[in-house]
Amino acid sequence: MTYLAKIGELTLKGSNLQEFENLLKHNTAKYLEGTGAKVSLRAGRLYIECEDSFQEKVEFTLNHLIGITGWAKATVCDKTIEAINKAVYDLAKLEAERGCKTFKIDARRADKSFPMNSYEICCEAAGDVEALMKVDVHKPDTTIYVEVREKTFVYVDSNVGCRGLPVGCSGRGLLLLSGGLDSPVAGYRMLRRGMKIECCYFHSYPYTSEEAKQKVVTLAQKLAYYGITLYLNVIPFTDVQMKIKEKAPEAWSTLMLRVCMMKVANRLAGRCKAKCIITGESVGQVASQTIENMTVTEHFAEFPLLRPLCGMDKEEIIKDSYFIDTYETSILPYEDCCVLFSPRHPVLRGQPEEAEEIYKNLEVDELIEKSYKEREIYKLTACGEIEKKTD
Ligand code: ATP
Ligand code: MG
Repeated sequence: MTYLAKIGELTLKGSNLQEFENLLKHNTAKYLEGTGAKVSLRAGRLYIECEDSFQEKVEFTLNHLIGITGWAKATVCDKTIEAINKAVYDLAKLEAERGCKTFKIDARRADKSFPMNSYEICCEAAGDVEALMKVDVHKPDTTIYVEVREKTFVYVDSNVGCRGLPVGCSGRGLLLLSGGLDSPVAGYRMLRRGMKIECCYFHSYPYTSEEAKQKVVTLAQKLAYYGITLYLNVIPFTDVQMKIKEKAPEAWSTLMLRVCMMKVANRLAGRCKAKCIITGESVGQVASQTIENMTVTEHFAEFPLLRPLCGMDKEEIIKDSYFIDTYETSILPYEDCCVLFSPRHPVLRGQPEEAEEIYKNLEVDELIEKSYKEREIYKLTACGEIEKKTD
């Protein structure tokens, strides 16, 4: 069977188009390793030819492959108008059965030796279909595409793809992944900007349970479906957190926790050659996310700090979390470490200078280094494999 995907933003990329296209092809082939599928790319279209038995795998791939605007299973037929008419009619019948009342045909003739031009193909193929649906060239319920190339491909553009740039073209980013709704979406947003993601989770056992950690592993797995391979670092953070509780002013405990997280993140980002650190913060969402407090966190970051959700509201974030299937996992009740140690009256407008003072007083550098060294590393793949690694 043959699948066809339309390429989105890539077509805008002038002179390095070839590079982006190769990466998209490479990523697709990586997903489909071992299936014998043939992947090719021409004229803004990605083609996958595979055995019927791999249908599910190919459709999974197309649902997670970043860099396409839509995909469809195509009918491949001979380059004769009779074969085209039949393929179009068969597909139109299915569309009418699922409730479409109007249609349009969009024909392209890449093979100029074909004796009819695009307009003539459209008129001819539409003839029989008019018994099933009415023509509407402006706002049709369905568009049936006909592409005459080395063979003819007939399809309807039925599935939405993940728009963006192919994963890997923007280097690597370190995502601070908690068990909440926001950070997985933040990771997904950066994956869609072509960034490879490595994840880091701060675990404060027994204040945060084994289930809380498991939840983060599940979330990382969902991101690995888009990222192809992804590493998750679990940082044991109990000692650091206890130190903060003991030594920092109560109002500052959440913000100091963020600062300490940033310290470890700096270390890890350097180790995994990340070019930036990513969080799921959104301006004004909670007390630690006022613009002033975000400035404090940023002050301690040694890498650019990206917050792809900074201007999004919760509803928009939830919509994305449904799309990437993290919602149900994120709302599971296991508390994350911030909740347990939350101050009653958190500082709302922290200043970097004050934060520096409080941080110094914690004398926590050694514990931070220890937590970094004692991290657990998991490698997750788009096939759903999880492997525990050592550094
Ligand atoms: P999320 O829904 O992602 O947990 P949130 O709205 O609950 O975000 P906070 O808990 O204040 O917000 O966290 C802000 C950001 O800090 C998170 O989006 C995440 O990037 C990072 N973060 C918070 N807690 C952890 C943790 N335990 N491990 C890793 N990163 C964390
Ligand atoms: Mg959280």
